[in-house]
Amino acid sequence: MINPDSFIYDIVEFIYFNCLCRFMSWNINNRKCLSCGACVGVCPVNALRLTEHGVEVDKNKCILCNTCATICPVKAIKVEK
Ligand code: SF4
Ligand code: SF4
Repeated sequence: MINPDSFIYDIVEFIYFNCLCRFMSWNINNRKCLSCGACVGVCPVNALRLTEHGVEVDKNKCILCNTCATICPVKAIKVEK
């Protein structure tokens, strides 16, 4: 187990969030979206925003926790790790 206070931990965390996360996917079907804003409100890292075109995600912020997909009433969001 790597100590969370160590320099190695910082490096692993940096590589994970800046490299590996980009190969994982977050998708939304904006045709299904009701623009209710529920997903935006529950995102723990404020990665979502509601626009006139539907919901948009900042993939640099998203930690793929799946909370938005779970709360969406019409299952418009799909998060794949
Ligand atoms: S998967 Fe989690 S972190 Fe990513 S946009 Fe949805 S709620 Fe936010
Ligand atoms: S929770 Fe679902 S329906 Fe509501 S804004 Fe988000 S994606 Fe759209």
